[in-house]
Amino acid sequence: MSKHPTYRTEGAIERFDERDTVFSREAFVWGSPNEVEYHRRHPERIEVDRRLAAFINAKTEEAEKAGPDVLGPGDRLGRAVYESLFVPPAALALPDMVDGEPAPVEVVWPPREASDRIKDYASRLGADDVRIGPLRQEWVYSHRGSRPFFHEGYTNSPYFTGIPDGYQGAHYGDPVTLSHAHAVSMAFRQDRDLIATGSTRAVDFEVGRIYAKGALASVQLARFIRSLGFPARAHHLRNYLVMLVPVAVDAGIGELARTGYVVSRTLGANFRLSCVTTDLPLAHDSPVDIGMQDFCNKCMKCATNCPSQAIPRDDQTLVHGVWKWKLDEEACLLYWGRTGYTCGICQVVCPWTKPQNAFHRIVASLAVHQSWLRRGLVLGDDIVYGARFKAKPVPSWLAGNE
Ligand code: SF4
Ligand code: SF4
Repeated sequence: MSKHPTYRTEGAIERFDERDTVFSREAFVWGSPNEVEYHRRHPERIEVDRRLAAFINAKTEEAEKAGPDVLGPGDRLGRAVYESLFVPPAALALPDMVDGEPAPVEVVWPPREASDRIKDYASRLGADDVRIGPLRQEWVYSHRGSRPFFHEGYTNSPYFTGIPDGYQGAHYGDPVTLSHAHAVSMAFRQDRDLIATGSTRAVDFEVGRIYAKGALASVQLARFIRSLGFPARAHHLRNYLVMLVPVAVDAGIGELARTGYVVSRTLGANFRLSCVTTDLPLAHDSPVDIGMQDFCNKCMKCATNCPSQAIPRDDQTLVHGVWKWKLDEEACLLYWGRTGYTCGICQVVCPWTKPQNAFHRIVASLAVHQSWLRRGLVLGDDIVYGARFKAKPVPSWLAGNE
């Protein structure tokens, strides 16, 4: 427990523009008004954004054009996995899925009771950890940048071939307003053996499966709270208004780590997040201090093993008012583009990503409380699990005929 989150800030924290995320920029259609306007403001990103856009096209449209004669059986299986898991959650991104009007009568629960009930409910929906914290306005995106609800832009054909009737209100570049006071952060554990295959369709499968699970749980929880009479909005893979990582850190899911993700005492780095923001009066959990800032200074395992050198080996830098290790998201995503699959190497090599058994609980407790032992624990992890990532085989039910 800690009174304050362990990240350091300096000066005012600048809200992040969703249009600057790699997942917004990879969706550009070259020559579209959005693309032209964005690169007029950011000419330094033209070259890398062309390469990012090529990644998503390779995954979808170009592969479609290539047709079955060109796609080998392995590629077709990979596409089938990707489409089966990443496309359906787009239907959970519709405005009346993530948001809506609350019921006219409010349930009356004291905040502590409401928090306990919400956390139990979210756990039953499948979350492996649930924490509640404040929603700081600094973590609300300043402008919308992600698909699929753009008037003029890319409608993201694998997900939607057009903008559905009645959903013409949201535009790329709209300012974001979200005044909810509380955020319910949910963490969903990934299967370690599947992620340990490196950058394969087994990782696509597991990441897509868990994102879909988190998306459904967030939509269900938001609707549950609205039915209790309070505003609530789901934020998930296909429709975010907030930055899930700092929101989860403030709620105590874990600490900000060298990877740029959250690392949790129980889940390690091997999970995905979704979230519900609300005005239902809720008691907050405390942020946690499990020693990550010091641990990451003594451990480079993610950086050493990252195949794209996207994880920094040097000190934290000041980003938008927050001191952090700054992940090179472009290098990371371009690596995914080169392999054709999502990568989870950094999540699986992290010494905190371990099965929840008695031995690892004791080691985690030592890591939290005995800072002088941390270097030794990293060394121990190298000896037992190997300093270098070794990919596990893709299971037979996902193996292709390449
Ligand atoms: S996902 Fe893979 S490429 Fe990206 S930062 Fe992690 S290890 Fe590096
Ligand atoms: S692998 Fe090591 S340096 Fe990277 S996030 Fe985990 S503990 Fe920190």
